[in-house]
Amino acid sequence: MSASLTSRYGDLHLHTFFSDGTYSPEELVAQAQRQELHVLALTDHDTVEGCVPTANACEAAGIEFITGTELTAEQDGREIHLLGYSIDPLNPRFLTEIAKFQAVRQNRIREMVQRLNEINVPLQAEEVFALANCRAPGRPHVARALVQAGLVGSLDEAFERFLKKNRPAWVPKFKMSADDATELIHQSGGVAVMAHPGLNRSDEVIPRMVEGGLDGIECFHTKHSAATAEHYLQIAARFQLLVTGGSDCHGLSKGRPLIGSVRLPYAHVEKLKAKAAERKAAAARHSSA
Ligand code: AMP
Ligand code: ZN
Ligand code: FE
Ligand code: FE
Repeated sequence: MSASLTSRYGDLHLHTFFSDGTYSPEELVAQAQRQELHVLALTDHDTVEGCVPTANACEAAGIEFITGTELTAEQDGREIHLLGYSIDPLNPRFLTEIAKFQAVRQNRIREMVQRLNEINVPLQAEEVFALANCRAPGRPHVARALVQAGLVGSLDEAFERFLKKNRPAWVPKFKMSADDATELIHQSGGVAVMAHPGLNRSDEVIPRMVEGGLDGIECFHTKHSAATAEHYLQIAARFQLLVTGGSDCHGLSKGRPLIGSVRLPYAHVEKLKAKAAERKAAAARHSSA
């Protein structure tokens, strides 16, 4: 790659059809090439299955790849999304733990469908599972199944009428604590980063998460304004946290892919990689002790 350090950019928050994105790894990487990105991280919800195929597609395209996942956790009653970067995708304890959360997701789909049926919306869980065709199904799959069955006119309508928090088919999701999620990421040799803090409005939990070992914070995100990004850059500086950023692309959004709309300067990627090397060494010492 001939581009200098300052003109290299990454998108470190991406989903594929291994969770609730619509792109295959190959389609995602083709879009990344169009956006002239130099590094990608895949952060599918509660799975790392997409990491090997995405790594292979990236290698063929000359793009650097970082493994990742996005875990749903809870801190002081607030829902927090934690990105785990550079985890070992074959770590046995990690795979055992996320399998539990995949089962939670599958059971939650059945419960959401049951609630829909109770209000005479005739969707079947099997329709959702067939459409999702992955181990980590979520509300977007229910929304797509409702559209496919002609029961709503749009994904937005599905969320607004049924799936948003406190709507009739909303079912709370069992979550691990933020400390447990951070520890799980660390023992898998990974780096723990708080995703899109501006969406969760949870600044007051950040000091506690830092005590729990949080490594970084996603300052740049599609739904963060410039002022929001600046606010979290200041928090990152205050707590000496890594700075990350990504588009949170799930496929097409209003007709275009979000990938590349957030471009993280490579200098931040270098710092993330240095921290990952530290975490990996610590995890190896811990597992051999
Ligand atoms: P889940 O993990 O099953 O709770 O689903 C969360 C996912 O649903 C998020 O990653 C978003 O992609 C999507 N989502 C959440 N709220 C909405 C909404 N109001 N409209 C469309 N998509 C949404
Ligand atoms: Zn998602
Ligand atoms: Fe998220
Ligand atoms: Fe995400």
